[in-house]
Amino acid sequence: MIDLRGKLETLLSSGSSENRRPVLDKHNQSNVKGLYIVGDLAGAPVIKLAMAQAVEVIEHLAGLPELRERGVERADGAVDLLIVGAGAAGLNAALAAQEAGFSFVVLEKERIASTIDDFPEGKWVYAEPDSVPPKGKLWLDGTRKEELVARWHQIVEENDLEVRTEEPLVSLERQGDLFLARTARGEIRARRVILATGQRGNPRKLGVPGEELEHVYHRLYSPTRYRDEQILVVGGGNSAVEAALTLAERNRVVLSYRKGELTRIFKDNRRLLDEAVAQGRIEVAFHSVVREMRPGETVLAIDRGGHQEERVVPADHAFILIGAELPVRFLKSLGIRLENDWGGGSVLRALALTAATLLGCWFAGPALGGPAPLDGALGDLGVPLGGAVAVVAPLLLIWLGKRGDRWAWLGLSFLVWYGIYGVKVGKGSELWPFKGWGYSSLSFFGRSWAFWYTVLYTTLMTGFGLQAMKRWGIDRRDRFQIWRYTSLLGFQWIFFFVVPEFLFQWAVKYQWVGEALANNPQFADQAWRSYGIVYAWPLFFYTWFYDPHQIWVVWGIVLTFGLIPLLVLFHGKRYCSWVCGCGGLAETFGDRWRHLAPKGRTALRWETMGLGVLAFATVATLLMLLKDTYQWYQAADRSLGVYRLLVDVWLVGILPVTLYPFMGGKVWCRYWCPLAKMMELSSRVFTRLGWSRFHIHANDKCIACNECSRNCQVGIDVMQYALKQETLDNATSSCIGCGICVTVCPMDTLYFGARAEAAPDAPIPFVAKAPIGPGESNLDQEEQSEPVVAGRG
Ligand SMILES: Cc1cc2nc3c(=O)[nH]c(=O)nc-3n(C[C@H](O)[C@H](O)[C@H](O)COP(=O)(O)OP(=O)(O)OC[C@H]3O[C@@H](n4cnc5c(N)ncnc54)[C@H](O)[C@@H]3O)c2cc1C
Ligand code: SF4
Ligand code: SF4
Repeated sequence: MIDLRGKLETLLSSGSSENRRPVLDKHNQSNVKGLYIVGDLAGAPVIKLAMAQAVEVIEHLAGLPELRERGVERADGAVDLLIVGAGAAGLNAALAAQEAGFSFVVLEKERIASTIDDFPEGKWVYAEPDSVPPKGKLWLDGTRKEELVARWHQIVEENDLEVRTEEPLVSLERQGDLFLARTARGEIRARRVILATGQRGNPRKLGVPGEELEHVYHRLYSPTRYRDEQILVVGGGNSAVEAALTLAERNRVVLSYRKGELTRIFKDNRRLLDEAVAQGRIEVAFHSVVREMRPGETVLAIDRGGHQEERVVPADHAFILIGAELPVRFLKSLGIRLENDWGGGSVLRALALTAATLLGCWFAGPALGGPAPLDGALGDLGVPLGGAVAVVAPLLLIWLGKRGDRWAWLGLSFLVWYGIYGVKVGKGSELWPFKGWGYSSLSFFGRSWAFWYTVLYTTLMTGFGLQAMKRWGIDRRDRFQIWRYTSLLGFQWIFFFVVPEFLFQWAVKYQWVGEALANNPQFADQAWRSYGIVYAWPLFFYTWFYDPHQIWVVWGIVLTFGLIPLLVLFHGKRYCSWVCGCGGLAETFGDRWRHLAPKGRTALRWETMGLGVLAFATVATLLMLLKDTYQWYQAADRSLGVYRLLVDVWLVGILPVTLYPFMGGKVWCRYWCPLAKMMELSSRVFTRLGWSRFHIHANDKCIACNECSRNCQVGIDVMQYALKQETLDNATSSCIGCGICVTVCPMDTLYFGARAEAAPDAPIPFVAKAPIGPGESNLDQEEQSEPVVAGRG
């Protein structure tokens, strides 16, 4: 039997698995009242931003009336603050708390600044972003990690900060107004808790037999200790490759990786690895997964093009370096909610309530002028009953949704957009159950629902657009994003609202278009065609039929086959992120969910659906254009009807917006829009011919923080390009040039432009050529992007 729920589950969460973060309010407070989260765990990808978050939270706490009296001894022995983690965020929070007069305790699982201390020996630590000054008392400047850690130790000493090292937080419980924290050594009571535990200290495991043996490690400590030994390294990210390279200086190393190619490693690491393989110092076992680890050896299963071969490799020591993962269990044990974290729910229940709402509307329809589904007394009874169901069922969905039922939110989201768009289809053609009454009942003040729909659309775009402009442009002082959102809002207001709804009619009424055109019904009565000033075929599908005036025919040809290709030549698919109203709603209203865009190979394969829609649009258009010549009336009308319902109503109107909160805003633009597909194909051709002016480049400063990939609304793994310093363009991706990846990159790694342009300064390359230090905590994002299945390396 088909596992419908499982399939839906996978579909809806395909974008979020590697990107989950705790849900926080604007002051970084989690759903557990009084528990704040800062730093890496709260999404600050670099030291400077982690430090800033810590200071901002302390400033917020210092302003709370209930914490006005602080630093005093209490009968219950509670301190004002418990700070968990002594990394950049935790230490800076402690220093700021000290200045603000709070009493506090700092717990640290390992050592002070252990994450940075574990960086490869001699690694240069960048103090990016350059434009943001460091906040707080902790010192930060571009330097080698040894100096940074030494400076932080000195600051801790000079300020008499007591950090309880090697004392992890084990559990946390709310007891009235206080928190009771249990550590490995005792209990602490605190009024507020600041969690600054980062996410690097939780190495991912394989889950295979023997992984707990003494010779198996999940970090690389003291690589110089190993000499003339057989060593197995498992993993395919930078941490694994750098470990293999260092160990191979004195040992024989096998690097086991489950895929056939190392796609997410630095350019320099690739070069060094190729050299080591050529010199026979490292053997790479591609397509291999670990089956079992035994003393002195490891069993690998190697995929040889469909058939599995078992191989036993000698391994005096085995290092499993497949990245770190969010300590989900730990966070959940503290009661913290994660993004896109749903508490079960029932598909059938949500389906029943959604269907009940629509049925309720059907029965209540006669009250608003609709046909009666039942005759006589039953029909009379149906109206109030149907009305009651149509109100109660959605309320139940909201209630369930607030309890974490994802299906209830999906049902509700569907009802909203099905209602709005199902009615907009047109008077008399509304979708069931609104047929015959929906359109007229939503037409107010002498204006049709189509007009109010445009008002609603423009209002949503404006409100959320200004919010997005603040988020990406104003707050980050990023002029590119300010211009982009200005352009999107400008096009929406002028060309998709004022022109079709007002200006066109005025132009006809006051004969601004000349007397002849104003009096020509073929022009004057088709105000809707003014959408075609900016919308090109096939997005504006009706460009050349339904009796257009010659002006529109010529303009349609110029726009579709002249201006759009020219735009693509210079700007790739920027039409989608700077101009288009469909993309505009996604970039504004859909912006808060951008990180949920599906990622990975399956999501990429789904993009081919756009080709199908483009082919359908082309065939339907040709049938319509040639129907008089070849008398293809039936076929043309039928294909037009199907296209209208399937594409114009369901794929543009209802489904994508319903799915915004689950799959990000770009569902239509990415998977179904035929114009986007057409632009992508031409951009690909221009790129391959070397004519395209649209590229994103990367310098060598990437720290694999994943921010770019997380925020790409079309699910591109930007980090993979950045690590390899490869050019990202439309030859290999469906990038729409929104520039958000450039904006969010804390290291200023990415930039638009031609290759010849100088990259922003990169003083010292990231890759440490020196041996890897006492530990290695580089997050291997490739491993992170897919769930680790037991037995896969
Ligand atoms: C390979 C790599 C290179 C990087 N390069 C740079 C760079 O050049 N410049 C830059 O600005 N940033 C860089 N970063 C990012 C930087 O390391 C992080 O932004 C920063 O460390 C985050 O600070 P934090 O305090 O939030 O977390 P962390 O520094 O990770 O500190 C968290 C602390 O909490 C402790 N802890 C965890 N669980 C518990 C518990 N249960 N109880 C008590 N304590 C606990 C941990 O032991 C750790 O000491 C890099 C990251 C990586 C992985
Ligand atoms: S790769 Fe960057 S510019 Fe391209 S769509 Fe994704 S976030 Fe936007
Ligand atoms: S390129 Fe991407 S992964 Fe690399 S530092 Fe910038 S945002 Fe992070």
